[in-house]
Amino acid sequence: MQAIDTLTPCPCGNNDGYSRCCGLLHEGGVATTAEQLMRSRYSAYVLKREAYLLDTWHHSTRPAHLKLATQQPAPTWLGLTVKRHESEGDSAIVEFVARLRYGGGKAQRMHEISRFVREDGRWFYVDGEFPEKSGD
Ligand SMILES: [Zn+2]
Repeated sequence: MQAIDTLTPCPCGNNDGYSRCCGLLHEGGVATTAEQLMRSRYSAYVLKREAYLLDTWHHSTRPAHLKLATQQPAPTWLGLTVKRHESEGDSAIVEFVARLRYGGGKAQRMHEISRFVREDGRWFYVDGEFPEKSGD
């Protein structure tokens, strides 16, 4: 287990550091935008915070579990770039590119356009589209 309080920059790329960024949401804070939620979910993948990922997944599409701790080959997350964030009322999309590597494999890009909805003041991840296959 890493000393997550000293994670600077935050896994999502914010130079303010984890405890001032995604850490606030992981400890129960409420994301004010879908982009914030998306970033905190990326950081949750990095830190294998499976409960947080499930909590922020819309009930209509939420899997029963993710098994992040036992995933093989384990992904190494290399960085996140948010390309677009559009919201209208209680729905939003966030387009991003995450870079990762499985085991000793080469780095690949995961390009996703994620959909989010807000219910009772909280944003939830619904699902995503993948506009391109991996590659560099
Ligand atoms: Zn963050």
